[in-house]
Amino acid sequence: QWIYLGGEFVNKNEAVVSVYDHGFLYGDGVFEGIRVYEGNIFKLDEHLDRLYDSAKSIMLSIPYEKEELESIIAETVRKNELQTAYIRVVISRGSGNLGLDPVSCSNPRVVVIAEALALFPKELYERGVRLASVSSRRNRPDVLPPQVKSLNYLNNILVKMEANQAGVDEALMLNDQGYVTEGSADNIFIVKKGTIYTPPTYLGALEGITRNAIMDLARKKGYDVKEQPFTRHDVYVADEVFLTGTAAEVIAAVEVDQREIGDGKPGVVTSHLLSEFRKVTTTDGYK
Ligand code: PLP
Repeated sequence: QWIYLGGEFVNKNEAVVSVYDHGFLYGDGVFEGIRVYEGNIFKLDEHLDRLYDSAKSIMLSIPYEKEELESIIAETVRKNELQTAYIRVVISRGSGNLGLDPVSCSNPRVVVIAEALALFPKELYERGVRLASVSSRRNRPDVLPPQVKSLNYLNNILVKMEANQAGVDEALMLNDQGYVTEGSADNIFIVKKGTIYTPPTYLGALEGITRNAIMDLARKKGYDVKEQPFTRHDVYVADEVFLTGTAAEVIAAVEVDQREIGDGKPGVVTSHLLSEFRKVTTTDGYK
């Protein structure tokens, strides 16, 4: 397996970064997770736009133009002869001294990993996942903007640990006012009386590429889609709940805090959107 590491392709076993890299020392950097479906890099432009916006927000300068990085990503997929894959693009602040001031880091480090995809088990899509709301809160937008996909994922790791401890598949994260925000690495939607709702990202959610794709698709299919704040109560009494993300695609949640959602099975709107989503994954991107 070939990894793109700061200007060259190196063998997986030789792909190492310095212990002085501020991505390692402080989580100082940004990243993207992207999927390849039958050779099509799904929504690559959208992922690159988000990556460059994340980097700009934290004043990290990516040492390539978007088009150059696009070619590097495509080349990484080609070199590894992958048709269906998961890509991780990481831009760290680079090596510096032990102080946290990024002034000591002169060369941002660019890493692109593409590997065969470990799909979620099919049963999970058929039965749906179980969620539990957790005590850790999504960080406030004025502290660390939720739109920045930074290397600092401690918040998300803590909620994942809480979900594990509760014996469920995924966490339901709230913000400090108790509004629902997202999962540990996916966005949330609820369906009530045929209308689809998702929290506005300003409440504390990443602006997911899958989230946006699903909102577009749903509107095209004639559903009413609203970005509107809601609480755990609204989730409990929803007809359907589903999560979206690069890894999860679209997956139903059938139990939340031990309340059964709808009839406890993935709902019709969720299943419809998943099948519509799968139709565009091989076309809507970079070939
Ligand atoms: N929310 C968080 C915190 C994430 O890390 C992710 C994963 O990328 C998502 C939501 C889903 O976003 P996307 O659909 O762009 O993968």
